[in-house]
Amino acid sequence: MSRDNYEVIIGLEVHAELSTKTKIFCSCPTEFGAAPNTHVCPICMAMPGTLPVLNEKVVEYAVKAGLATNCEISRDSKNDRKNYFYPDLPKAYQISQFDKPLCEHGYVEIDTEEGKKKIRLTRIHIEEDAGKLNHDDFGGGSLVDLNRAGVPLIEIVSEPDIRSSEEAENYLRKLKSILEYIEVSDCKMQEGSLRADVNVSVRKKGDTKLGTRTEMKNMNSFKSITRAIEYEVDRQIDVLEDGGTIEQETLRWDDVSGKTFPMRDKEDAQDYRYFPDPDLVAIKLSEEYIENIKKALPELPESRKQRYLEEYKLSEKDANIITSSKYLSDLFEGAIKICNNPKAVNNWIISDISRILNETEMEPIEIPFDSKQLAKLVMLIDKGTISSSIAKKVLVEMFEHPRDPEDIIDEKGWVQISDEAAIKDVVLKVLEANPQSVADYKGGKDKALGYLVGQAMKETRGKANPQMLNKMFLEELKK
Ligand code: ADP
Ligand code: ZN
Ligand code: MG
Repeated sequence: MSRDNYEVIIGLEVHAELSTKTKIFCSCPTEFGAAPNTHVCPICMAMPGTLPVLNEKVVEYAVKAGLATNCEISRDSKNDRKNYFYPDLPKAYQISQFDKPLCEHGYVEIDTEEGKKKIRLTRIHIEEDAGKLNHDDFGGGSLVDLNRAGVPLIEIVSEPDIRSSEEAENYLRKLKSILEYIEVSDCKMQEGSLRADVNVSVRKKGDTKLGTRTEMKNMNSFKSITRAIEYEVDRQIDVLEDGGTIEQETLRWDDVSGKTFPMRDKEDAQDYRYFPDPDLVAIKLSEEYIENIKKALPELPESRKQRYLEEYKLSEKDANIITSSKYLSDLFEGAIKICNNPKAVNNWIISDISRILNETEMEPIEIPFDSKQLAKLVMLIDKGTISSSIAKKVLVEMFEHPRDPEDIIDEKGWVQISDEAAIKDVVLKVLEANPQSVADYKGGKDKALGYLVGQAMKETRGKANPQMLNKMFLEELKK
């Protein structure tokens, strides 16, 4: 039996680190990248006798995320202890939420080939992150860094509504863009600000009962998520086709070998002995509190997209790409406010900028220049200071050694030659050097003109104004 006889079922648990200034239960900074154990205090180091105090911003950010994903917001919520031992968790419990999460019953809409599809959200709850173990190559042991301990997270749990690796990627991209728009997380996947536990099972088409799932933890790149799902689906089908059964277990995806490996048996909720954290009070939210957050929600990607279609006449595809990231979308809007050329800015983002991002595996948030600099690039072409082929080189420079496009052009001597006399000199020189092409053109071979223009471009190292060249060649050839 082939893969076509099976249906793939996927559910994601996404963890997003919130971009609050301070941690969830103490006032240590959340900033990434500090020297080990410098962002710590007795509370997040779990000293005996310390007490947590809930950071109100964490509740606000989680409610924001819930409202932006169509969730119901609980008026009455609480924190629970999830008990387990691990060296990066000195309290031996994680403060999370069990039976009363802040947000429930939401959905995120994704685009599929068959049209729009709703991926339902079971819940969004708040919890604290654990520390980090650094494996010491010299001493042979492991070192604990507690800077991340107590950094606030939201966990967004989807229903098993996802049916393919493409849908999983679409869903994750959509979720990421929503979280970026509402500015609750920077979603930097390489820094682990956004990571997903991927649950995968398969069942024979037509079956109504879900198959046994495996879970791959802490995945933080779209590419490996896609590869891991594909591998795991094939593996599960092979096992079933051989008459075996799938064990419910936690797997580790290895990017190098492209395989999954068993990590441990899957634990159940009961293994954690959840109970209400007695150190924290219940979280009671008033209608007014929720209403105020709702009113302050910024424009979300879907609505920006509609606006781009109507106001700027972008194609559906382009509008989708630009609004998929808040950073691209802000870059777009910021640039057109200055240069007033939506079509050109759209083209730069969709083609050259997207291509460079792809090639360098860069996230839009890492683009090293701002909307003002992109606008300047567009205006330099509009004014005829540089040709569009030179502009492409300027853009590469803007990525590699970020500075104003004018400075790049000055330094490199890339200003376009639009001076009539200078252009005429080049045209005459090229005509004289290519009598055969001149004869060809006069004999009816229009293509010869293109060749001559090309030669002139070569002569000026791409700096001659192509429209002027064309015009001048035609004039001279008619003589
Ligand atoms: P936990 O992993 O913490 O025990 P759950 O049992 O609630 O939590 O499930 C977590 C995730 O697994 C959810 O996103 C859910 O959609 C997904 N899931 C549950 N059952 C299956 C299944 N049979 N196949 C694929 N995904 C599943
Ligand atoms: Zn602290
Ligand atoms: Mg899980």
